[in-house]
Amino acid sequence: MSRKYNQFETSVIHEGYDAKDMLGSLATPLFQTSTYTFTSAEQGERRFAGEEEGYIYSRLGNPTVTVLEERIAALENGERGLAFGSGMAAVSAVLIALTKAGDHILCSSGLYGCTFGLLTMMKEKYNIAHDFSAMESKDALRSRIKPETACIYVETPINPTIKLIDLKMVAEVAKEYNIPVVVDNTFSSPYLQRPLELGCDVVIHSATKYIGGHGDVIAGLVVGTKEFLDSVAMTTQKDIGGVISPFDAWLLLRGLKTLPIRMDRHCDNAEKIVSELKHHSKVTAVYYPLEEGAEISIQEQQMKRGGGVISFEIDGTKADAQQFLNKLSFLKIAVSLGDAETLIEHPATMTHAVVPEESRLEMGITDQLIRLSVGLEAWNDIWADLKQALDQI
Ligand SMILES: *Cc1c(COP(=O)(O)O)cnc(C)c1O
Repeated sequence: MSRKYNQFETSVIHEGYDAKDMLGSLATPLFQTSTYTFTSAEQGERRFAGEEEGYIYSRLGNPTVTVLEERIAALENGERGLAFGSGMAAVSAVLIALTKAGDHILCSSGLYGCTFGLLTMMKEKYNIAHDFSAMESKDALRSRIKPETACIYVETPINPTIKLIDLKMVAEVAKEYNIPVVVDNTFSSPYLQRPLELGCDVVIHSATKYIGGHGDVIAGLVVGTKEFLDSVAMTTQKDIGGVISPFDAWLLLRGLKTLPIRMDRHCDNAEKIVSELKHHSKVTAVYYPLEEGAEISIQEQQMKRGGGVISFEIDGTKADAQQFLNKLSFLKIAVSLGDAETLIEHPATMTHAVVPEESRLEMGITDQLIRLSVGLEAWNDIWADLKQALDQI
């Protein structure tokens, strides 16, 4: 699916939808239906045989969902998109489609907690191994690839330590071995980073975050080649069945329209909060894409801006970190990110509690680490609340 409109800001609003097809409806209609009636038994036969285009049953396709799938494919510059009932349904559909017993997955060192849980289960139940690599250079990456490596799975910026991985470099090495590269692009959204344009093969989103943007939907999206996504659609999507509801697809289409303006505001606010945090005496480290000298060139290459998530370490213990969160007045203690509301959490005891302590520390997730998803409120209100809570520890 190549983009019909040159500019991203126009694509988020128009791509994949023509009001002419829908009685002139400006908003994409919500097709809240489980099934579709056939005009004859023969038509049903032709639809099932794939001889005639058309909808059959909403687990296999739904017109509202189709608009969303076409729009996200265009925004990521991929051939086809698929929508799922959660980010994890998307991650599992892709990883199960790409692997079989005996295979190996090479991952970035730092993963979303439930992706880590899924990989642990795949290892224990299906003998699909995995390893972690910092992917800091071509040679470092080559040395970790095994004959049975079936895919490379990357998160960048890494959650929650906000380290960056050079996607173009990873894609170049993977091509040498003919291994697909899967990128979880949740933290950036296609507005800030488009991995397929850098040579990667599959992009996954937890659309629950920036794409939905309003904290009211759980959903996942995948974009890649038509060949791969056709196979996912017919296997791990259709038969495991983690599909999105039409209403949630409708909410995502609504959220997507404001993605560029929301992302710019998230970034503006985050940049201001980063510069304040760096000067507070109770803050010992701040992690944000623009902050690490060596990574600026990677960021310039692959990310338009730094995004809305900041992590920082406070001077103190786990109890101090918890006290800091308890002292906040209007900022919300919650996992998730990318919402209008600023959300703040303690990764070691929340999002990454499932990760064993040793692996957690290797990933850089200390008891002092706080993750902040900067919302769309006035930045000085956000900072005032953070500051008064920091001042009390
Ligand atoms: C939230 C998240 C997921 C999982 O998505 P759900 O929609 O919660 O299932 C996967 N990856 C990252 C980076 C996330 O932040």
